[in-house]
Amino acid sequence: MKSYRKELTFHTKTRRDYINITSQVESALVESGIREGLCLVNAMNITASVFINDNESGLHRDFERWLEKLAPEKPYNQYYHNGYEDNADAHLKRSIMGREAVLAVTGGRLDFGTWEQIFYGEFDGMRDKRVLIKIIGE
Ligand code: ZN
Repeated sequence: MKSYRKELTFHTKTRRDYINITSQVESALVESGIREGLCLVNAMNITASVFINDNESGLHRDFERWLEKLAPEKPYNQYYHNGYEDNADAHLKRSIMGREAVLAVTGGRLDFGTWEQIFYGEFDGMRDKRVLIKIIGE
């Protein structure tokens, strides 16, 4: 069995952002040389997510509005966590949107469902954050 590991780094200009990372994961799969197996993609920070959904800008605005209703950024003092930090909302948003995506690798390609794309969801950006890609198989 082969295994391959790669880190991606992100530094968003805004506190929250959604970035399509599908092509970067596909490149990692090509670099791995693995044709059959599993590909894990996970955020390495507890205020960011990796998730799979539609590449449609209206949907991304809907995510943003929905997450702000569930866990509004402000006022900061509404959260117990915000004694030393201001990112409680980002931890909650990350929990809702998930830590990782796992994809089947079939015939050297990511075995997506219809319209599926991989996204990095940033909820407390403007600093370096990492995403781990781990691919195992043969
Ligand atoms: Zn925090």
